[in-house]
Amino acid sequence: MIAMGGRFCYRCGISEDEGGPLIDGLCQVCFRKENPVLLMEDEINTELCQNCGSYKKRGVWVDPGTYELDELVFEVADSALTENLRLDERIKHVAIVSPEEVETTEELPVGEARVSFEAVSWHIEHFPAIITYEVRVKARLHELQRELHDEKKRVTVYVRQTVCPRCQKFLGGYFEAILQVRAEDRPLSEEERKGVEKLVEEKVDEIMRKDRMGFIQDTIEKEEGLDFYMGSTSSARKLAQAIRERFGGSISEAYELVGQDRQTSREVYRTSVSVRLPKFRKGDIVADGKGNIYEVEEVSGRGMSLRNLSTRRIEHLDWKTLRREKVDEVEYEEREAMVTSSTPVDVQFMDMESYETFELGRPDSGLKEGEIYRLIKVGSRYYVRERKE
Ligand SMILES: [Zn+2]
Ligand SMILES: [Zn+2]
Repeated sequence: MIAMGGRFCYRCGISEDEGGPLIDGLCQVCFRKENPVLLMEDEINTELCQNCGSYKKRGVWVDPGTYELDELVFEVADSALTENLRLDERIKHVAIVSPEEVETTEELPVGEARVSFEAVSWHIEHFPAIITYEVRVKARLHELQRELHDEKKRVTVYVRQTVCPRCQKFLGGYFEAILQVRAEDRPLSEEERKGVEKLVEEKVDEIMRKDRMGFIQDTIEKEEGLDFYMGSTSSARKLAQAIRERFGGSISEAYELVGQDRQTSREVYRTSVSVRLPKFRKGDIVADGKGNIYEVEEVSGRGMSLRNLSTRRIEHLDWKTLRREKVDEVEYEEREAMVTSSTPVDVQFMDMESYETFELGRPDSGLKEGEIYRLIKVGSRYYVRERKE
């Protein structure tokens, strides 16, 4: 018998009637065999940092989504697998979906693929961790295809340990900037040291999510304050701003020539970022330019709350106003005295140490006879600070 005018697959010889329609001279089965879509390697090698758990994603080191070691190994391997997925170049759109979705996919436009992967065996107790995946793809390369490509492949991912460039620098003692925290005209108090350290700890975690070099290399306690050795200058600046926002004060920067880069022969500078906290603290007695006497109730990034010791009223002043009003420390003596008599016009006190008596004109309301008060003496004037508990 002679098949007149019929066409045949040039590879397997099947007639177009039986195995067609032919695509580029191939039957349906031979077309799919000659044009596989899943082109990835059987083995993939990848690394994770043993110090911080980060790994490379499209050439960039990124922090992991989890620090739980088993999950982390799978996260790294999944990422390497996805990145190393190679399909025929005629595939223009790929979606990674669940194995169930690939299973039930029966139709796709030309140039589209659905890929799933599933870990089928693994050894992750030690490094290199080895995870074998089954990768499955369904795809359409040609409009004349009766059935989609449906290919499966086992791919093994080896996850090895390394130290990322950031951690190499960190472990090597590298730092780029020093953040100095000081207070104006006095050492940093114990309370401020604790507060600053806590704030820095919280803030640096936040910064490092965006700036991997933003680490603290070292913290040095000094008599006058704290020094933080920072992996990046921008991190030092951000911390300085956060400290100023919380505690008030001013920020300044200085640069120190530390050497020359051997490769570029450019001069290398180290930045010192200094935050100087205000000299005032809660409980300080201050005066403004007009001679009003205040007790400092609160110091913050915005300004201070001051209690006017004549009117007892609290005033909130920002730093600009405080400077303009020339608010500054004032010399004073502290006394304890008992109210011995009071009239609407004046109050008589007796000093508890010297038993001297003195009068205070235009008294505060609420002073009670027989009670002992703490007074402030500025020059020759007395001010009531508070009742003695
Ligand atoms: Zn064929
Ligand atoms: Zn690392």
